[in-house]
Amino acid sequence: MTAYTPTYDAVVVGAGPAGASAAHELAQDGARVLLLEKARVPRYKPCGGGVTPRARAVSPLASRAIPATQEARADTILLAHGQRALSGEVAGSLVLVMRDQFDAALTEYAVAAGAELRDGTALTGLERAGAGLRLIASGETITTRYLIGADGATGTTARLAGFQPVADTGAPAIEVELTVSAAAQARYEHTTLIDIATVRGGYAWVFAKGEHLSVGVAGFLPEGRRNLRAGLERFLGSYPAPSAAPTVCPRRSSGATSSSCRGPRCSPSTRSRGWRASPSFRACRRFA
Ligand SMILES: Cc1cc2nc3c(=O)[nH]c(=O)nc-3n(C[C@H](O)[C@H](O)[C@H](O)COP(=O)(O)OP(=O)(O)OC[C@H]3O[C@@H](n4cnc5c(N)ncnc54)[C@H](O)[C@@H]3O)c2cc1C
Repeated sequence: MTAYTPTYDAVVVGAGPAGASAAHELAQDGARVLLLEKARVPRYKPCGGGVTPRARAVSPLASRAIPATQEARADTILLAHGQRALSGEVAGSLVLVMRDQFDAALTEYAVAAGAELRDGTALTGLERAGAGLRLIASGETITTRYLIGADGATGTTARLAGFQPVADTGAPAIEVELTVSAAAQARYEHTTLIDIATVRGGYAWVFAKGEHLSVGVAGFLPEGRRNLRAGLERFLGSYPAPSAAPTVCPRRSSGATSSSCRGPRCSPSTRSRGWRASPSFRACRRFA
């Protein structure tokens, strides 16, 4: 009887930050690693792309990937409710990246360490084979000793492995990348805006990324998940225009906002100067 010899020591499913980092660590230690990614790298991902100081501290690889992919830094977070906002300092700054570039850089490090990348290849099947596993990925059979499921919130590895689905905790989100006037860009250059009023049961955000803004909405609760596009349109029609930026309210000792604080209201003229989402919700549009 011949000994079972899988082709790989480990197959990692998903080339996001988790999968690319895992593949990098294993390959660096001499393991035969295959990194499977269903999309083509680089792939777009709706995400604020904020890399916190803590994340940079725990992941030397992320810190290495940042210089080539960093778009901006934010030192202030505005937590806004309508036209009122609380301002908080981010000790050590939030580094803002575009996830397609950041994840691709992490993947490049994994490949440079010796991992094999197969992008455009989705894991679709999984079964035990001797002391290892047999995988089906885009119609091909692959054998491995270990499997790491790093395929994100909507990934299939856990289901294929027989784990019970957890309660649905997902938060659907949509985002636009907007090219805006220099004044609008400057308004958000070092400031990240999180708005909790526009989408009930969710939130909206403005993250400055170098020469454009990432603006989006996400819903956590059922009412927030319904009709995200309408929520994004509302948000685009109010906040991001520099003239409609929220007023920062003085903090009370309890942390509540001052009830006397009122920012500029979102008027029809503000809306007409605002930015609208492109039909694809991905393309950039410039407004004077
Ligand atoms: C709206 C929004 C804003 C966010 N903002 C921030 C932020 O500012 N800062 C922050 O730290 N986090 C943020 N997050 C969270 C962050 O996006 C996730 O925590 C992070 O992407 C998780 O990384 P991951 O590597 O586990 O999975 P992912 O980044 O989701 O990567 C999983 C990969 O697996 C691939 N895949 C899926 N299924 C398969 C399959 N069957 N076969 C092969 N490949 C597969 C996918 O294509 C994907 O590339 C945000 C999330 C959302 C939704």
